[in-house]
Amino acid sequence: MTVIFSGIQPTGRKHLGNLIGAIEQYVAGQERADPAIYCVVDLHAVTVDYDPAQLRERVYDTTALLMAAGLDPQRCVLFRQSDVREHTELSWLLSSVTELGRLNRMHQFRDKSAAQRALVSAGLLFYPVLQAADVLAYRADEVPVGEDQREHLELMRDVARRFNARFGEGLLVVPEHRIPTVGARIMDLQEPTRKMSTTGGSVEGTVYVLDDPKAIEKKLKRAVTDSEDPFTIRRDPVAKPGVTNLLDITAASRGIDPQTVVAELDGARGYGDLKLAAAEAIVALLAPVRERYAELRADEAALEAALEQGAAKARALAAPVLTDVRAAMGVGPKMP
Ligand code: ATP
Ligand code: MG
Repeated sequence: MTVIFSGIQPTGRKHLGNLIGAIEQYVAGQERADPAIYCVVDLHAVTVDYDPAQLRERVYDTTALLMAAGLDPQRCVLFRQSDVREHTELSWLLSSVTELGRLNRMHQFRDKSAAQRALVSAGLLFYPVLQAADVLAYRADEVPVGEDQREHLELMRDVARRFNARFGEGLLVVPEHRIPTVGARIMDLQEPTRKMSTTGGSVEGTVYVLDDPKAIEKKLKRAVTDSEDPFTIRRDPVAKPGVTNLLDITAASRGIDPQTVVAELDGARGYGDLKLAAAEAIVALLAPVRERYAELRADEAALEAALEQGAAKARALAAPVLTDVRAAMGVGPKMP
């Protein structure tokens, strides 16, 4: 059976890109994988400026959101990263086969360090090594992520290969990415050439999963399109990034092909009709998630209990892998 692993940050409010690019795939993964393992990565969140009290709250927010979107702790392993110490131990061990120059060249590191006003932490540089450990600790076969994680996935594949070459073939599994065909890169509505982001973007350009219908309609009405004359509704990511994004969002929200949306908008009178179609599709997708979220988030004790149970299952899976890794690396006492 396929093992799936993915992680999501508890920073900020989760947005439409997270839902379509990642969370929907997590939900689908519950049917295909055994086990499907999903982790709220609080240790990744401490690599940029953050508030300690808020971080704990955000972990509950994100857990409730994942469950509202369809993750079922009975059918998957859902846990908080810092509860399973194997992640941090493995990340240190993997650092021995990770190339520093490559960490330095990572786009996310460059972007996020440029955005830091004060300290650029070593943790920000080291982030992809911990991310590699997250996945490799479970010998996961598949990692569902958005397009922005391609580079990190390549690094973790490289780390797994190097580790196996150095310490023993077959010790770690080289994982495959699983990137959706539509919606792998949802763009900011105000700046359609950059991805919708938890930490980087503008509030007006970001549709949050918990936005109410009014807020969604307002943001969509103001979405940036283009001034092509006469207006044309077609996919062209380079020449028409705004329109392409709205087509992709509409298609992904409804689970249909962008070309079908183009065909439906054949008689449109302007970009306003496309914006309206996008808003309708998003509202229909998000409304039920928002309702379930309110119920789930209200019961923190239940969320904590779910996370604890998830962590126990995760530990049981990761501990034997760490035993193998330690033995192969000559770390710790001789094995009997
Ligand atoms: P940040 O911008 O601070 O990195 P984020 O919005 O990328 O935050 P993460 O928790 O890092 O949030 O990402 C969770 C998942 O959502 C990842 O798999 C990522 O690839 C995916 N994802 C993030 N942004 C988008 C987007 N705009 N479109 C599609 N998928 C996305
Ligand atoms: Mg990210």
